[in-house]
Amino acid sequence: MKKILMIATGGTIASKNTGKGLTPVISPSELLEFVPEIAQMCDVETVQPFNLDSTNVYYPHWLEIARLVRENYAKYDGFVVTHGTDTMAYTAAALSYLIQNSAKPVVLTGSQKSVYLRDTDARGNLADAFAYCADDRAYGVRVVFDGKVILGTRAKKTRTRSYNAFSSIDFPEIAVIRDGKVVYYSEPHPPAGEPLFSSSLDPEVFVLKTVPGMRADIFDYLIEHTDGVVIESFGSGGLPRYGDDNFFTRLEAYTAAGKTVVVGTQVEREGSALDVYEVGRRLLRIPNVLEARSMTLEATVTKLMWVLGRTKRPEEVARLFLTPVDRDFL
Ligand code: ASP
Repeated sequence: MKKILMIATGGTIASKNTGKGLTPVISPSELLEFVPEIAQMCDVETVQPFNLDSTNVYYPHWLEIARLVRENYAKYDGFVVTHGTDTMAYTAAALSYLIQNSAKPVVLTGSQKSVYLRDTDARGNLADAFAYCADDRAYGVRVVFDGKVILGTRAKKTRTRSYNAFSSIDFPEIAVIRDGKVVYYSEPHPPAGEPLFSSSLDPEVFVLKTVPGMRADIFDYLIEHTDGVVIESFGSGGLPRYGDDNFFTRLEAYTAAGKTVVVGTQVEREGSALDVYEVGRRLLRIPNVLEARSMTLEATVTKLMWVLGRTKRPEEVARLFLTPVDRDFL
C-alpha cells in the first residue's frame, strides 16, 4: 500500500461552530475517522503544522507546507493537504512553484461544509483526494474538489457556496474521480529526475486592480513599498489615459527603479493580449513590464513572489517568469 502524509492545515473541512462562527478545531485523526475507506486505500500518517481559517494563511504557511513536503519527500509516496477553500488556489499555485518537477503527488482538498454536517462534501472530497494521491499515475501539485482534478497552477475558487467551488481556468481538468476511480482525460506524463524545491519567496508583491477613474499616484506609494506589481487591467489589457500620461510615466518610474510590473486582465478567462490595442501595446515597449497572458491571478502573484525570491536581476526575472511551469500559461 502507498504511504501518504496528510498535512492538515484547517479550513471549513476541520471546523466546528464555536459560538463565534465556524472555526477550525478538528484534529487530523478525527477527520480521518469520518472516512474509514481511506484506510483501505493507503497507509496514512498525519501532521498538523497549523489549524487556520485559510483567510489567515499566507506566504510563511506556504513555505512551511513546502518544507514539510521536502523533509518527508523520501518517506512518503504522496501528500494530501487539507486546507480552507478561500485561499486554497493561492496555496496550490505557490506550492506549484515551490515544489517543481515532482513525480509524487501533492494534493490539496477541503470542503464547503464541515465534516460534521450530514450533507457535507468533506467526506467525498477527502476520499477523492486520497484516491487520486494513491493512484500510480498521479504526480505534481493538484487540487481535488467535487470529483475534479485540477492543476495547482490553474485552480480558482469560483463559487462561495456550491460544492463545485473550484474551476480549472483556461485549461482542462486533468482527470475526474468516479466512484473512487481516477479517470484521466489525457495521458499523464510524470516528470523524470529529481523534484526542485525552493525555500524563499518575496512577499512584496502588490495587486492593482484598475477601475475607471482611478488615480495614478498610487505608484508613489508602490515604488517605496513593493518589489513587484501585478496590474489586473481591463479586457485584453492596457493602462488608461485620463487626459494625461500619468499612469504611463509613473509606471515607467517604477520599472526604471528595477522593479517588475506584470500586466494581466481582470476578466476571468482567456487571458490578456497586450499587443492588440494601443493602450496595451505601449506597455510592451517598457522594460521590466511582463504579461500575465492566461495565468490566473493566483499563479501570477505567487510566481512573481517566487521569481523575486530568487533574483532581482531584470533579465533573469523575465526569463524565469516567462518559463512555463506546470502549464501555468500556454
Ligand atoms: N473560510 C474557510 C477557509 O477558507 C472556507 C472554507 O474552508 O471553505 O478556511
